Amino acid sequence: MILRENAWPKEVRDVYFDLDNTLWDHRKNAKLCLQDLFPEYKRKLHYSGDFDTFYLAYERSNDFLWDEIAKGAINKESLRNRRFPEALDALEVPNYKIGIELEQAFLDNIIQYNELIEGSLDVLNFLSQKKLKLHILSNGFVEVTSRKVENSALSPYFASITSADEHPKNIRKPHPEIFEFALKKTGANKQHSIMVGDDWLADIVGSEDFGMASVFLDIPNASNKNFSRTITRLLDLLLYF
Ligand SMILES: [Mg+2]
Repeated sequence: MILRENAWPKEVRDVYFDLDNTLWDHRKNAKLCLQDLFPEYKRKLHYSGDFDTFYLAYERSNDFLWDEIAKGAINKESLRNRRFPEALDALEVPNYKIGIELEQAFLDNIIQYNELIEGSLDVLNFLSQKKLKLHILSNGFVEVTSRKVENSALSPYFASITSADEHPKNIRKPHPEIFEFALKKTGANKQHSIMVGDDWLADIVGSEDFGMASVFLDIPNASNKNFSRTITRLLDLLLYF
C-alpha cells in the first residue's frame, strides 16, 4: 500500500484518537487482568508453568490473530473463539471449553483495569485548554469502548466517540468510510482534523488515505515506516501544537 502523507493542517480544530494502546493501555490492562485470572485457570487446567510463559503464549496467539484480522482473513468473532484455545494448545494443556471460559472471563474483567498510556491526561488537558475538539475513533465494540472511556474517567474530554461497529455496514479503520462517518457526527472537516494512533494500517494508512493528516504513536519504537510524523511517547504529540 502506498502511503500518501497529507500536509499538516494550517489550523487543527479536531483531534481523533484511537483508544486501545493510544490512550487506554490495553497491553498493560490485559496483563493485569490475566495475572489475576491466572491462579484459578492454572488450577482448572492442571497447568504447571508460570505466569510469564502463559502470558507469552496468550500474546503470541493474540498478535497472530489480530494480524489475520488486519489482513481480512478472519473476523473478531473467530479471534474470540481461537486466541485462548490456541494459547492453551501451545502450552500443551489443550482444552477448548476452558479456553472459551477464559475468553469470557477476560472480556468481563478487563474493563475493571484502567491504566492509561503514559502522558494521556497531560495531552488531553493541554489540547482541551487550546479549545481543540477531541474525539475517539476506535475499531472496538460500542459497549466495550464506552465502558473503557467511562471507567477511566476520560469521557469529559471528548466531543464524540465512534466505534467501528456503529457503522451501518460495520466498516472498520483503515477504510475511508469509517473516518467519513466519524467526522460527519460533529460536522468536522478533514482539512482541519488529525488522527493519532498506534496501528500503522488502521490509524495511519487509513487516515492518510482518507485525506487527513496523522501522527503515528510507535511506543515500542519497532516500526521501520519512515513516516515523518512518528512519535515514541504520547507527550511528544504536543510538539505539533
Ligand atoms: Mg490501537
